[in-house]
Amino acid sequence: MMQLVRISQHINYNRLSTTSFSPAKRLALLAAGVMEAARCQALFKRRAKVECNLCGWQGRSFINFYTGYGHVYPNAVCPSCYSHPRHRSYAFSLEKLLNSNGKKKVLHFSPERMITEIICSHADIDYLSVDIDHTKAMRKEDITALSFPSNSFDYIVCVHVFEHISDDRKAMDEVYRVLKPGGVALLDVPIDHNREETYEDWSITSPEERTKAFWQWDHVRLYGRDYPQKLRAVGFSVQEDQLISHLPEHQRTRFGLEAEPNYLCTKP
Ligand SMILES: [Zn+2]
Repeated sequence: MMQLVRISQHINYNRLSTTSFSPAKRLALLAAGVMEAARCQALFKRRAKVECNLCGWQGRSFINFYTGYGHVYPNAVCPSCYSHPRHRSYAFSLEKLLNSNGKKKVLHFSPERMITEIICSHADIDYLSVDIDHTKAMRKEDITALSFPSNSFDYIVCVHVFEHISDDRKAMDEVYRVLKPGGVALLDVPIDHNREETYEDWSITSPEERTKAFWQWDHVRLYGRDYPQKLRAVGFSVQEDQLISHLPEHQRTRFGLEAEPNYLCTKP
């Protein structure tokens, strides 16, 4: 039962993080999430149609994820390891990125457990995770003022971070500075591909307004198709890697993968 409640809390994370819901509404959301998680667990016994490539769970479908602004990502969350489509997709892109010989010094910002496990499953990894909150990583660091010397890391994984940072240009500059020449950084963010330019409005401050405008209560902007230009302006050579969209459709469906490009950024 506790696992079902945890799954419900996860898939309702955005909605429960806003403050406008009454206690009764929050309880109703949690209860609906528990029912959905229970349905998914029951379906596990039937013929499996989807499979989590991270933890091996199999079932009829993944669980829906509620964004908190009226939109639902259907068939998204693994009920066993809570991975989202992007986490399951990173297993493929990181495999390609880290599958080289020799010791690899990796810096990982704002680590999510699933991604940490993917990185550390590779050989010869010298891994360090950092976050502004020291309880969430191996070491406390401010991405806009890193304590590392320049040219320190072979690989940097910084995914879904810049959209939380007020001065994202300074953060990108710092990531560029500490990456070794020839090193590669995976720098994905949520992107609204219908939007040509990144949307910022500093008068939007409440969790509810931010959720509507920027897709999550703690995002401070919504990136548009100009995102790679921002990375190039810092100095990166940007490759929009289409590995997932080039996988066979049955494989994308089976593992519930996200057919978005990954931004692999090399320091010349
Ligand atoms: Zn899983």
